Amino acid sequence: PIVTRFAPSPTGFLHIGGARTALFNWLFAKRFGGKMLLRIEDTDRERSTDEAIQAIIDGLSWLGLSWDEDVVYQFSRAARHREVAEQLLADGKAYYCYATPQELEEMRELARKEGRPLRYDGRWRDKDPSEAPEGVKPVIRLKAPVEGETIVNDHVQGRVTWQNKDLDDLVLLRSDGTPTYMLAVVVDDHDMNVTHVIRGDDHLTNAARQTHIYNAMGWDVPEWAHIPLIHGADGAKLSKRHGALGVDAYRSMGYLPDALRNYLVRLGWSHGDQEIFSTEEMIAAFNLEQIGRSPARFDFAKLENLNGHYMRQTDDAQLLKAIEIILPEVGSERGAPSQLNNELKALFLASMAGLKERAKTLIELIDNAYYLYASRPLNFDEKAAKLLEDGSDRLSGIISKLEAVSDWNTENIEAVIRAHAHDIEAKLGQVAQPLRAAVTGRSTSPGLFEVMAILGKKEILARLADCGI
Ligand code: GLU
Repeated sequence: PIVTRFAPSPTGFLHIGGARTALFNWLFAKRFGGKMLLRIEDTDRERSTDEAIQAIIDGLSWLGLSWDEDVVYQFSRAARHREVAEQLLADGKAYYCYATPQELEEMRELARKEGRPLRYDGRWRDKDPSEAPEGVKPVIRLKAPVEGETIVNDHVQGRVTWQNKDLDDLVLLRSDGTPTYMLAVVVDDHDMNVTHVIRGDDHLTNAARQTHIYNAMGWDVPEWAHIPLIHGADGAKLSKRHGALGVDAYRSMGYLPDALRNYLVRLGWSHGDQEIFSTEEMIAAFNLEQIGRSPARFDFAKLENLNGHYMRQTDDAQLLKAIEIILPEVGSERGAPSQLNNELKALFLASMAGLKERAKTLIELIDNAYYLYASRPLNFDEKAAKLLEDGSDRLSGIISKLEAVSDWNTENIEAVIRAHAHDIEAKLGQVAQPLRAAVTGRSTSPGLFEVMAILGKKEILARLADCGI
C-alpha cells in the first residue's frame, strides 16, 4: 500500500509551499487508496513552537487535507534514532569521530580555498577510539561509500547522480547525543512504512545522503519525488510580496479553501490545459510524472479569478458561513460588523446572488455589501459622492412617488423609477446612477431595484432624506 507523509518543521506558519507539498502527498495517497501521514519535525527545540504546530494543523484542516493515523512528533522518537545510530556503530557501518571544532574549522577553510562545500575528510573513519583525545565528546558518523556513485531515481527530476567522493561521512548523532535531521528522517520514514517521499527539491541532495543510511541499514529506499520550489510572478524566489505567506493569510484575504486548493494543484502540476478541478477530478488525475521540472510561478491574478469562479459556484448559505468565519478577524478594520445578527444574515442571504457575481474574494464581497450593514448617514465613496453631486436634482420629487408604493417589491419600484425618468425626460441611467449612490454610498452594486426592495421602504426613504433629496 502507498504511504506518503507531510513532514513540516514547526518553526513558522504553514506557508503556501508547504501547503502545496501537503496537497501533492494527499492527492497521491488518495489516488492510490493509500495513506498520508503527518509528522511534525520538532527536533529543533529552540525554534519549534506550539503555535506553529497549531497553525499547521489548522491550515491543513481548513484546506481539507486530512491525514491518517496519529500525528508523529519526531522529537519523541529520539531514543529510537539513537538506537539505530548505535546499531550502525555495532555493525561497523558508523564510527565515533573526535575531530575538534578547530580541526573542522581547518577543513572548512580548505573547502573555502578550493571553492567547494565543506567535506569532512574521514580522519576518524579507521582510527581506533583508544586514540581519542581527552575531553572531546565524539559525534557518530556514517561510514559512507567513498568510491562509485549514488543514484537517485526521482519521479520528477529523473535520474540524478552523485560521485560518492563528493559526499562526506555525515553526522548521525551529535556529541550531545541528539540525532541529526538526516538520521531522524530516514528512521522515521522507514518505521512509518513510507513508500513515497514527496517534498521540495531543496532536499534533493539529502536524498542521496539519506540513501547511504538506508543502504547501511539494509532498508528499502523509498520512491522519491522532489518538487521544484515556487517562485514569484517575476521568476525570483518567492517572497512575502509574491505570496510567501501562511495559509491563514490567504483565508484572511478572503480566499475559499476549495479555490486555493485548486490553485495549488495547478502550481507545478498539469493535466492537459484543464484549470478547474473538483476534488474527485484532482484525485483521479493526479500523478507525479506531470509535475514540471521548472519552478512554478505564483500568480495572484490567477488565484483571484479562480476564487471568483468558486464563489459563484458556492451556494449562498455556505458562502455566508465562509464570510462569518472571517468577519471576526477582518470585519472591524473594514467598517463591517465582526458578527452578523439574524437580520443581517437574512439581508446577506437575500443579496448573495447579486453580490457573489461581482466579487473575486470574500473581502471584496464584504466591502461591496456595505449598503447592507451601513449605518445612516452613509459614507459615500468618491465616485458616489460625484454622482450624487451631479445628479441629485434629477431625483427631486422621487421620494413622494416612492412613498406612494404600497406593495414594496422589485417590479413596483422599477415601474416608479422608470416613470420618474420618463416624467423628467431623462434616461433611466441618469436617474438610477445618483439614486444608487444615494442608497448604497457606492457607484456599483447589485441590481438597484432589488437592492431597494431588500433594504425596505422605510430605510430607503430615510437614506434619500439624509441626502437632502
Ligand atoms: N522537515 C523538513 C522541512 O520542513 C522536511 C523533511 C522532509 O520532507 O524530508 O523542510
